Amino acid sequence: MTYSNIASDPLLLTPGPLTTSVSVKRAMLHDLGSRDKTFIDLTERIRLRLTSIAQVEDTHVCIPLQGSGTFVVEAMMSTLLAEADKILILANGAYGQRIVKICARHGINHEVLEWPENEPVDPVQVSLHLSENESITHVVVVHCETTTGIINPLQEIADVVAISGRLLLIDSMSAFGAIPLGLASDKFTAVAASSNKCLQGLPGVGFCIVSKSAIQNAQGNSKSLVLDLHDQWKGFELNKQWRFTPPTHVLLGFDQALNEFDAEGGINARHKRYNENCKVLVDGMRSMGFETLLPDAVQAPIIVTFLMPADPNFAFEKFYDELADRGYVIYPGKLTVAETFRMGCIGDLNASQISAAVDCVREVIELMHVKSGAPS
Ligand SMILES: *Cc1c(COP(=O)(O)O)cnc(C)c1O
Repeated sequence: MTYSNIASDPLLLTPGPLTTSVSVKRAMLHDLGSRDKTFIDLTERIRLRLTSIAQVEDTHVCIPLQGSGTFVVEAMMSTLLAEADKILILANGAYGQRIVKICARHGINHEVLEWPENEPVDPVQVSLHLSENESITHVVVVHCETTTGIINPLQEIADVVAISGRLLLIDSMSAFGAIPLGLASDKFTAVAASSNKCLQGLPGVGFCIVSKSAIQNAQGNSKSLVLDLHDQWKGFELNKQWRFTPPTHVLLGFDQALNEFDAEGGINARHKRYNENCKVLVDGMRSMGFETLLPDAVQAPIIVTFLMPADPNFAFEKFYDELADRGYVIYPGKLTVAETFRMGCIGDLNASQISAAVDCVREVIELMHVKSGAPS
């Protein structure tokens, strides 16, 4: 394979990295010095644009961090929880479980409330648990659980957390930029996300939007040097610079991706396009007998989980390879409740491209002599 022709890249129907526009990729074609004014201004601009997307410019700061999304989730946890704190982790999928792992590694006091992967977090149970467990100081929730594509009821969760006087941390990695948080600035302490999901930038940088009071109080919490968001923030405060080599090209691409986010019409327009993508995908797949794991009411327009067809002629690997040969990359499932695969609706993709992907699915299952996508 050669990489000479961008137009022949496959379309990525995955949870990330995603298909990006040619102009975002092109924006990377510059070498910037990390101590140069152009780059310092670029960093400042991106930080401000991100707090403004969350509508918390006055109360929160944006702290970007090198690495993939998990780096910034781990940084958020290790920085914002002090030794005396205890966090309640609301888990209904693999990303919630990853936060449990992070807490165990860092020796962060935690408790876990779990739901099956195909059920949203229940705010009533959260409220009850908080009222019965005085020692809990923080709660963390995954906004859209990418494991299944389920949307958790963030506003309701934030309400019960606020009423009980606890602080809320959010992993909105796969929703930020497409599904509004819908929270007033006093309803959450921090939210983590990354460049390469709904904001349609390149992978390589995450960010945490943290309330000013929380970050000011977080000195000395993190046992990691590179993941210490307080130190990272102090660096930006001091001279607007990154502590360690920044991913300059990724940030150039990110700034362009944010230009395109604005040009599209911001979060509402992006939500609308992803909704259309999701509808075309789900309707098309259902017309072949495929079934979604989730009912439509809790399905986020981010990534859709389909149940594995029962037809004995269906073999996932063959299905995956044939689709990849036709230019569409899908994603395996990682569920414990059922055999599944996933198809994403985010990235620089529109409804007609999704429709073409659905046509390819039809072609491939016919070629495999699969009569219906129906599960057992
Ligand atoms: C993508 C994602 C992450 C981060 O994953 P990385 O592979 O480290 O980028 C974290 N949480 C959720 C909900 C995600 O979708």
